[in-house]
Order: sequence, then C-alpha cells, then structure tokens
Amino acid sequence: VPELPEVETIRTGLSKHLTNQTVSAFTLLWPNSVTPGLSLDSLIGHTVTSFRRFGKLLVIDFTDDLSLMAHLRMTGQLILSTPTAPIPTLPDRTTRATLSFTSSATLFFNDQRKFGRLTVLPTPEVLLDPFVTSLGPDPTDPSFSTRVLTQALAHHPGLSVKAALLDQHTLAGIGNIYADEALFAARIHPSTPVSALTTPQRRALATAIPAVLNRALSLGGSTSRNYLNALGQRGAYLDTASVYGRAGLPCHSCGTPLAKFALAGRGTSFCPRCQRLR
Ligand SMILES: [Zn+2]
Repeated sequence: VPELPEVETIRTGLSKHLTNQTVSAFTLLWPNSVTPGLSLDSLIGHTVTSFRRFGKLLVIDFTDDLSLMAHLRMTGQLILSTPTAPIPTLPDRTTRATLSFTSSATLFFNDQRKFGRLTVLPTPEVLLDPFVTSLGPDPTDPSFSTRVLTQALAHHPGLSVKAALLDQHTLAGIGNIYADEALFAARIHPSTPVSALTTPQRRALATAIPAVLNRALSLGGSTSRNYLNALGQRGAYLDTASVYGRAGLPCHSCGTPLAKFALAGRGTSFCPRCQRLR
C-alpha cells in the first residue's frame, strides 16, 4: 500500500517529467476506476501546472482550474512512459486508465485490486473534499512537533498507539510499514494505549515518525508488493527496514527474534525486548 513516502516519490517523479505537458487523449479500461462526475476527457487540451500531495492522496492540477485526484489505495500505480524512457510492458492486464500527452508521454493508471480511484473536479473543490478536510497534520511538514503529535493523538485516548497512527485523521500518510518502523525507532510497544504514553515517549515518537518517513523518501519508498515509482522503479527502504517484514529475524539493536501479531486488523512487527509494554 503506498504510504506518504511512496506517494511523495511518485509526486516528485511526475512533477519532474509532466509539468507543462498538455493532455491529448485518454482511455478508460475499467470504468469504475473513475468516480462519477467530470469525465477524464474533460482534461483533453489542458496543461499540467502542479502536483500536490495530501497524505496518501495525489492531486494533479491543470490549467483552467481543473484537477485530477488519484487515490492509489492498495495497489494503485501511476507510471509514466516517455519516448526517452519507454515502459514496453505497459499497458498490462492491471491497466485501468491512461492519459496521453502531446509530448508522446503516456501516464498509466494500473490497479490490480481495483480499489484505487481517479476523480476529475474543479481545482477549488480539492480543498473542500471530505477526505482532504478530514486529514490530520502531515508529519513531514516542518511545523510537525511533539506538541502537534500530542494534539493529534488526543483525539484517540482509548486506542493503541499503532491504531491511532494508522488513522488518517490523526496524522496524514502513515500506513502499516511506517507505523511499525516509527514505533520501533521510538522503542514503544505498538499496543501501548495512547493515554499511557509518557512525555519522553511522545517526544521520541515525534522525532521517529518524520525521521523514518524522510529516510524512506531518500530511499525511494518501500516496495513490499506492487509499489513502483513514476518511472516504474522499486523503492529500496525495505532492504534496510528495522521490523517490517522481519518477523522471526534478529533485532538489529539487541538480537532478539522479532515478533509479529495482529493489531487493529494489521500484521504488526516489533521487538519484544526493545519495545516492552510498560
Ligand atoms: Zn531489540
């Protein structure tokens, strides 16, 4: 599932290659990939002006106040094929929609599980979208701090800290991989109730979350199954992950075999020694 670092990596990749390009055509292979309302063909003749990210949501803005929102959800990919960097394997059986540009570039929306959604809407409506308005603060924003985290967590005193981090109303952009990685970095057991977090733990978590996300960004994100960046390349973060995907393997810090259990319906990896439940 693409989380903040993966969507941000896609955003910067597309921004570099698609800004100022004009849409020439579209194809829609799986109609349910586009939410009802404006059709993808409304974008024809419009030029890309900017790329924005709201948590795990990517927004492409076009001239004349049109925008395209892309919810990648579980398996969505946005991959660009250009004459100088062609992707000969695309389209494939997971391709749900394509946007072609006058430069001969083609943007492929692939989505194996079909939960992803594209929405065309007037740009002013992006900031009124219910998903956007309900998002918590972005932990990679420079203003993120222990105070911001404490206020965000205060909405969920009864939840475990892991479940609270997965809720996009608490913080925007964190999913299963980076919740587990940040909790390990902060040496906090994932089941710790939010109300039981000590001040030093909240401080450690407020440092760990942006550190883990920025490290993942520098490594091009994580590819556990489907994620590929805008040029069809894998992310390298999981090669150096601390706990995610490492159950049974020794902790990098103490050598204890890492454990895994289900929490908030998600597989949760942690070190039983470094992350004791107090
Ligand atoms: Zn350990």
